[in-house]
Amino acid sequence: MTTAARSSPLTIAVVYPDLLGTYGDGGNGLVLARRASWRGIDTDLIQASSGRPLPTADLYCIGGGEDGPQVRAAAALREDGTLVGAADRGAVVFGVCAGFQLLGGSFPDSEDRSHQGLGLLDVRTRKGTGTRAVGELVATVASDGPRSPDGGSLPRLTGFENHGGVTSVGAGARVLSHVVEGVGNGAGDGGEGAWSGRVVGTYLHGPVLARNTALADLLLGWALSGPGGRESLEPLDDTEELALRAERLAVVHESGRRDVVRRLLRRRG
Ligand code: GLN
Repeated sequence: MTTAARSSPLTIAVVYPDLLGTYGDGGNGLVLARRASWRGIDTDLIQASSGRPLPTADLYCIGGGEDGPQVRAAAALREDGTLVGAADRGAVVFGVCAGFQLLGGSFPDSEDRSHQGLGLLDVRTRKGTGTRAVGELVATVASDGPRSPDGGSLPRLTGFENHGGVTSVGAGARVLSHVVEGVGNGAGDGGEGAWSGRVVGTYLHGPVLARNTALADLLLGWALSGPGGRESLEPLDDTEELALRAERLAVVHESGRRDVVRRLLRRRG
């Protein structure tokens, strides 16, 4: 366990909230900062707007956004170079939806033109052909997904999705989780998100770290330990967070039950 004194504050940067702030994912940075400071860890939460050099941080959160701002954010991050350099040195990078897509090799804009991503995750996104994936999303963490510091598997993930992109995971990355309810990556293998080293991407909004505190603590533990390490953290009283989780999971369960009943009634009638 740790709340070991650090010589400098744990720095968490929310990347370009002015471009990638549409879906409330900036809350992920806040959740991480609060969970660290509740444990007595000195924390600096930076809202790193575009148009300025990206600061150096221990942990970067990149949120979802619309197609145009996503293209601008990816181009600015590639030109700036700080994020890729920091990830190479072991910084934790957590991307959600547009933030996930731009960590990969390429992603489409609204006209279906392909744009280069940062290449931090071996994923590629193309435009989906069907309807946009919108709704609650539940997924179980893959057996070769990231493990909690005690080596156990993480509890299933809950959030909501809203995207048109379809993401394929290449051999250089692994699927983060398997969809129980919803669409996720949409590539036909039931995968949701991807990860490699300390870079994690997901389609889950929420903000996802408010609904999935084990994932939040996993990222924090990585950021607090040296490269390659993972640190377990003192447990917190998560009564409220667990109630939120249970409430959201119950909504999905209930609507699933209603769908089954509706199908049965349709078959009979
Ligand atoms: N523009 C991307 C898509 O629709 C990402 C959307 C988002 O971040 N929610 O696939």
